[in-house]
Amino acid sequence: MRTAIHWFRKDLRLTDNTALNHAVASAEQVVPVFVRSTWTARHQWTGAARQEFLAGCLQSLAENIATAGGRLIFRAGRADEELVRLVKESGATVLTFNRDPDPFGREMEERVTKAVRALGVEVVSCKDAVMHEAGEALTKDGRPYRVFTPYSRNWLALPKPPVGPRVKSLRTPATLVSEPVPAVADWGLAPSGVSFVAPGERAARERMKSFVSTLAVRYATDRDLPAGRTTSRLSQDLRLGLISIRQLVGHVSAFPKYVAELAWREFYMAILTHWPEVLEHEFDPQWRGLPWEYDEGKFKAWREGRTGFPIVDAGMRELNETGFMHNRVRMIAAMFLTKDLHLDWRLGEQYFMQRLVDGEIASNNGGWQWSAGTGADAAPYFRIQNPWSQTARYDPDGAYIRRWVPELKNTPARDLATDPGPLLSLASGYPRPIVDHATERLKTLAIFKAHKERMTG
Ligand code: FAD
Repeated sequence: MRTAIHWFRKDLRLTDNTALNHAVASAEQVVPVFVRSTWTARHQWTGAARQEFLAGCLQSLAENIATAGGRLIFRAGRADEELVRLVKESGATVLTFNRDPDPFGREMEERVTKAVRALGVEVVSCKDAVMHEAGEALTKDGRPYRVFTPYSRNWLALPKPPVGPRVKSLRTPATLVSEPVPAVADWGLAPSGVSFVAPGERAARERMKSFVSTLAVRYATDRDLPAGRTTSRLSQDLRLGLISIRQLVGHVSAFPKYVAELAWREFYMAILTHWPEVLEHEFDPQWRGLPWEYDEGKFKAWREGRTGFPIVDAGMRELNETGFMHNRVRMIAAMFLTKDLHLDWRLGEQYFMQRLVDGEIASNNGGWQWSAGTGADAAPYFRIQNPWSQTARYDPDGAYIRRWVPELKNTPARDLATDPGPLLSLASGYPRPIVDHATERLKTLAIFKAHKERMTG
């Protein structure tokens, strides 16, 4: 009897799962496996909330596979070593997996492929996480895009892969040993205390459907408003593949503004593939070596949402309490860290990765470098958002701020959008602004200008 192993990673669903469909079609028995990496807890970007969400998704996947007649096998360790062991135990002749867009994932894929091929196993790797991989949307002369608009034009015009079927039944050999479903403690992490969205394929599908049927028509006009529900809240679902990008695009094709946002996700993944050095350095070489400052007090105030800038504090508290932050506020909070506090964007990038349930290295790095003014198609350094006018524009009645900063629940909306100056606090128990935006703005302009002059000699 032919046996295939399907290695689950960021594709935790049974519907339209390209490599899983291949495994089911090519063998009578399928060993679905998830390998919990044992180094995760030590990584500077790991966060308990994201691992808890992952654990919930794995629980749900295990139940879905059981309903289909199979059994999800859990192993812990290095994927290449564990998969070699599983090949030997199961006698599998095929290994399938969906390709990971991020460079660390790809590195492990290469190791796994080499190790199991050495045992004579056929390896089938599939495009699944994205509509178009980094090498597909290129300029006419075959080069990667550095700017979003032409990239997205090309991305939109490429033929889109069709939606595949759902796996309804699979059989897993009975003898294989499995660890229990991982829990956050297995990664050596303490519980986060964060209340995040419901995990699992079904919950994600329901989120997608409710967005499409109720909110998508207002997305183009309301998406920048952080109060209430104005966006799809599907980022964590895309990250773990609880819904497929093909399903999603199929549902939202009538909403071009939304589809364009999905192209941003793949743009940043392509940037990371073509320029993996962005994880260490500024994408734009002219900004490498900028003299960032460090001030633990300011960094702590930012992390805790106690800067005295209500919109920044609301965002950071939303992040700390839910593992999510609205995109507009991510930009404001990121620009505040880099342009008002002059702290290195890598500090913010790391903190976001530790806290975000949707934390994804390409979009996070892209978002941070955009905000710092150093990235691909980034905001130019001299276009510095003013947190007070951003509040007037995007949270005009103060509903978002009051939701997350209870000290300000009786503060009038106009005051929430007006700099009180260095001496006044907006409400008792709420800090005074830790910096003066106008002063810090001028300082940032001077720092960037001086650096540019140094670099151009
Ligand atoms: P929607 O507005 O409903 O958008 C739909 C989907 O499009 C999102 O789920 C996401 O997959 C994609 N998308 C939307 N905007 C962007 C964008 N600017 N860049 C890339 N993809 C986008 N997104 C992450 O998924 N993970 C991250 O770690 C992450 N870090 C960020 C850090 C900063 C500093 C900034 C400015 C943005 C970051 N983003 C990140 C992008 C964006 O903020 C989130 O994707 C979005 O807020 C998720 O909410 P949503 O699903 O309701 O978005």
